[in-house]
Amino acid sequence: MKICQSCGSYFDGKTWHDPKEANAPKGRELERAICPPCQMQKEGSFGGVLHMAGPILRDRREDVMSFLRLEESHRRDSNPLSRIVRVEENGDRWTVMTTSPHLAVHLGRHLKRKFGGRLRLHPDVTGHRNRREETNEAMSVNWESPAEPS
Ligand SMILES: [Zn+2]
Repeated sequence: MKICQSCGSYFDGKTWHDPKEANAPKGRELERAICPPCQMQKEGSFGGVLHMAGPILRDRREDVMSFLRLEESHRRDSNPLSRIVRVEENGDRWTVMTTSPHLAVHLGRHLKRKFGGRLRLHPDVTGHRNRREETNEAMSVNWESPAEPS
């Protein structure tokens, strides 16, 4: 059994689990390790990118940020590897780096559902996708909020 020394997720030999899970190992012999999302954070790498733009990012910064964090935590409940690596804020343009393209798409879709606006997906690479859920190819997602806050 391995445990991530950074976030406390543990690996049972098959998958990584969230430390909040009821059957999390306690007081056992745990090998110190680093889980894939924490590794990405350390290296500054990522699996998916969400570009966000629009006045809403300035006008309702807190709302948008907590919405992103909430959606991330929902995803993380079902997959502890699904995380936001980093958010770079630059006024009314934000860049959100995620561990998987899947999460970037998910966030984009939910932003659109909640705040409206426009969503565009740009697969940088097409073709050879062996695993649908977890491809390493970065995919970029663009979301633009409505011009006028509704
Ligand atoms: Zn970790």
